Amino acid sequence: MITKFAHDEWAHHIDVIDNLHRIKEIGMDAWLEEQKQQWSCPKCGTRTHWYQSKCYVCGASWKCRYE
Ligand SMILES: [Zn+2]
Repeated sequence: MITKFAHDEWAHHIDVIDNLHRIKEIGMDAWLEEQKQQWSCPKCGTRTHWYQSKCYVCGASWKCRYE
């Protein structure tokens, strides 16, 4: 079921299996901290989302992870 979910029409679902492996490897608290860093604007720290490539607050831009 989870493999089917990971390969459905939503590109960001592909991360689910890697996320589970990473949680097992480093633990939930460390994974949550990694996620917080990964999904924050590199310039101002504002929370970002899966398909975002530009910060709505400071204007910083980056390559969208799921293009
Ligand atoms: Zn920003």
